[in-house]
Parts: sequence; structure tokens; C-alpha cells
Amino acid sequence: VRENHESVDPADLDAYAKKHFPLCMKHMHEVLRSEHHHKHQGRLTYGLFLKAIGLLYEDALKFWRDEFTKKMDLNQFEKGYVYNIKHMYGLVGKRASYSPYSCVKIITSSVGPGEHHGCPFKHWDVNLVKQKVIECGVSVDGANEIKQLVSDGHYQLACGKYFEYTHGKALGNGINHPNQYFEESMNIEKG
Ligand code: SF4
Repeated sequence: VRENHESVDPADLDAYAKKHFPLCMKHMHEVLRSEHHHKHQGRLTYGLFLKAIGLLYEDALKFWRDEFTKKMDLNQFEKGYVYNIKHMYGLVGKRASYSPYSCVKIITSSVGPGEHHGCPFKHWDVNLVKQKVIECGVSVDGANEIKQLVSDGHYQLACGKYFEYTHGKALGNGINHPNQYFEESMNIEKG
């Protein structure tokens, strides 16, 4: 039994990423699992999202450490990244409580080579979006509808459609935050 019932069990993250994360965070999770690394903006964007869904500091530290040390030694991880994670949790520096990024912030961020912190609907090639949403269980018709919204520049509406097709339920107010997406998805599961 976990002390804080609001906290997320790190062992559930793979399942959550599959079922409850919006495409932006699902992608970040998959990249972290396969490449064992994220650049600074990726760590911040994904790390703050995870913090806001209830991943506790100790669990976050272990989560990032387990992945990063598949590619670097522990010493390198501790020197280069631990401060960063502490900072995200307000444990060092200004001790500020940083908020997770909204869709607008993610959509308007610039994403360089080797970075993955963008909004797939905005930053990916539209055909890749179509392929990805089909892989995630959306029908070809649904994927074409999403593709059209993306082509018209309606990224958050496209995300809302993706939610609708993967949950069988439309969101009245659309998507404006990855953490809102997560909560709505969890609420559906809880019933
Ligand atoms: Fe993530 Fe928002 Fe883009 Fe959806 S619209 S993929 S929640 S940034």
C-alpha cells in the first residue's frame, strides 16, 4: 500500500502511457524507454507532467536513473541530472513549484533535432500522425478526420478527436492541457 493514495505507482507508467497519456507524453515515454535519454526540454516537459500525475520525487529519481544508466554510468547521471530532477520538484534552487506545461506552451515550443517534447499534432509530419493514431487503435476514417484537422492547423481539436476515438467518448470542452487529458481518461476508467 502506498502512503499517498494520490501518488502514481511507477510500475503502472507503461500501462498508463498506453491508455491514458495524450500522444505527446506517450511519445516521450516510448522514447525514454527505447533511447534511455531525453534532452533538457524533454526532461522538463515530461518530468513535470509525471510530477503532476502524482509521481513522487523518489520514484521519479529512480525512474529517470534506471533509464539513463542504461546508457551512462551512475556517476555521470548523478553529476549531470539529479540536480535537475530535484529542481523540478522544488527541492533546490528557488524551491519553486513548477507547473506542468499546457498544450499552448507545448505547441508553441521549438523542437530541435534529437528532441521529442513537442505536440505530435503540430510538430510531426501529418502522415506520421495518421500512421501513429492508427497504430493506437483509431480507424482509418477516424485517422483521416484527425489528419484533416491537423492539416487545417487545429491541433488541439485533433487531439480531442484522438481522445474520442480511443475512449469512445467525446470531450465537451476539448483538450487544453496534457494533465487534463490524463485526468479525463482516468475518470472514464474509474467510471
Ligand atoms: Fe499533448 Fe496538448 Fe498536443 Fe494533445 S494537443 S498531444 S495534450 S500538447
